[in-house]
Amino acid sequence: MACVFCRIVKGELPAKVVYEDDKVMAFHDINPQAPIHVLLIPKKHVENLFEEIDQELAYALIRGLRETVKKLGIEAYRVVSNNGKGAGQEVFHLHFHIVAGRRIPPTTV
Ligand code: 5GP
Ligand code: ZN
Repeated sequence: MACVFCRIVKGELPAKVVYEDDKVMAFHDINPQAPIHVLLIPKKHVENLFEEIDQELAYALIRGLRETVKKLGIEAYRVVSNNGKGAGQEVFHLHFHIVAGRRIPPTTV
């Protein structure tokens, strides 16, 4: 299994897990770009948002975001998802970056 996030889901690689349910998992980024930098992923391998995902998983991702943020105890955060090499996607297993903990400028572009 080459996919690094699938290996984290399987427990083959360690991760600092923040939240987990049957469909999604959130863990701290190995190379944080902000004081809080957590990745939320579907447990199922989906490459990115170009791929079709079912309604149940789409909802589970949004719910997972909320639950993760609740666990982190933060009052403000930004969600970023890089889709495709040209957007900076390096790990081709869908993930949402949750960044917080410092004053985030209005846009990141
Ligand atoms: P991308 O550039 O694909 O949007 O983001 C990939 C993110 O995954 C990067 O922020 C990178 O630091 C993180 N990452 C890559 N490999 C690992 C790993 O093995 N464990 C964790 N926790 N994060 C990883
Ligand atoms: Zn994967």
